[in-house]
Amino acid sequence: MITYWTVAKRGLIRRCPKCGAGHIFTGYIRLLPECPDCGESFSGNRTDDAAPWATVLFVGHFAAWLIGTMIKSDISSQNLTLIVLAFVAVAAAVTLPVMKGIFVNINWFRAQH
Ligand SMILES: [Zn+2]
Repeated sequence: MITYWTVAKRGLIRRCPKCGAGHIFTGYIRLLPECPDCGESFSGNRTDDAAPWATVLFVGHFAAWLIGTMIKSDISSQNLTLIVLAFVAVAAAVTLPVMKGIFVNINWFRAQH
């Protein structure tokens, strides 16, 4: 039996919610029409802005912590800005596909049950 958490974990590694083997994305975050392994259809599975919203929420907390930590040191504001911008750009780029995978799989699970 496929559970909610199994599906969410498969989304975390961007795998098919049904079989857990096939990839769900082609390229960065473009959703495949169906699973290449089991053929499960992903059509109609829209996450809209849930993944970017969750990414901002997740990365924003770490960025706030980073700013709070670094502002106590005697780092210049110019260097602080550059470091925080670099961190946010990399962290958001890494987090967005993970969040989209989770939301795609949760959508699939909710449509099945
Ligand atoms: Zn599959």
